[in-house]
Amino acid sequence: DSIANQIAAGEVVQRPASVVKELLENSVDAGAKSVQLVVRDAGRTLVQVIDDGAGMTETDARMSFERHATSKIRSSDDLFRIKTMGFRGEALASIAAVAQVEMRTRRAAEELGTLVRIEGSEIKAQEQISCLPGTNLLVKNLFFNVPARRNFLKSNSVEMRHILDEFQRVALAHPEVAFSLFQDDREVFNLPSGKLSRRIVDMFGKGYRDQMAYCEEQTPYVTVRGYIGKPESAKKTRNEQYFFVNNRFIKHNYLHHAVLGAYEGTLPDNYHPFYVLFIDIDPSHIDINIHPTKTEIKFDDERSVYAIMMAAVRKAMGVYNL
Ligand code: ADP
Ligand code: MG
Repeated sequence: DSIANQIAAGEVVQRPASVVKELLENSVDAGAKSVQLVVRDAGRTLVQVIDDGAGMTETDARMSFERHATSKIRSSDDLFRIKTMGFRGEALASIAAVAQVEMRTRRAAEELGTLVRIEGSEIKAQEQISCLPGTNLLVKNLFFNVPARRNFLKSNSVEMRHILDEFQRVALAHPEVAFSLFQDDREVFNLPSGKLSRRIVDMFGKGYRDQMAYCEEQTPYVTVRGYIGKPESAKKTRNEQYFFVNNRFIKHNYLHHAVLGAYEGTLPDNYHPFYVLFIDIDPSHIDINIHPTKTEIKFDDERSVYAIMMAAVRKAMGVYNL
């Protein structure tokens, strides 16, 4: 029922940024080449994602809002072989439980698309429409039916910061996909598809072009690749620091220390280096906390990843005397 749905939704949907994360990941999963994010009032009144991905059939469109209907987890082994980012099959159901959702979707091979309108888990309309191939999903008035949650939201600037974080994480993980972001009708990001280095510069500024070094180190167990900021580009304030494991953003204090260790002696006190580092590893070697809002992960051989990470960063800085 709707109360149970609302409670379950609380797990996945904590704030507008959670909606942003889930929708962007779905678009990437659907093979989109181009994804547009539109937010109004820091996502309180509108989060919209428009993609040119695979789209859905009429049946799939309706099913996509049913809890667990589409979970890709079919056995416990699947938990360790998660290839795509979405895997719980409940994000859309959760969002639809606590917002007014409108989805237009069409598969390229079909002439007509489907419109589904759903509010607080109640289907209000489902009809055939003409629309572009891909998916256009509007999430309006988040927590319209859960005042306590709505009141719990922070200021617009805080909520917008969370949205930007999610947008930047997904956009960094997928430089092969074009992304744009409109905030209250103003275009704040327009990121064409291209290489990772180009994505970083487009996102953080031209100044990064000459201030970063390519980083790569490979062993049979793990591959580390990405870019690190040269020591002279370190900032006194919080700098951009990202780890991605198999293209999923994660936080990892221990690995963060490996990176800092490589910088040792090159940074003044309280200066923070920039890094965008991808760790590719066989999924059987990691333990993903399956809660969708968590960004932690465990490696079965953490010390190896630590050593390889530090070696990779040192090498990139031109420090070979390990
Ligand atoms: P999950 O991504 O975990 O499977 P979601 O609730 O996020 O669960 O999405 C449910 C299903 O709806 C997806 O598995 C996918 O089949 C479909 N879907 C969602 N968003 C899109 C999209 N943008 N394009 C195509 N299909 C989508
Ligand atoms: Mg999903």
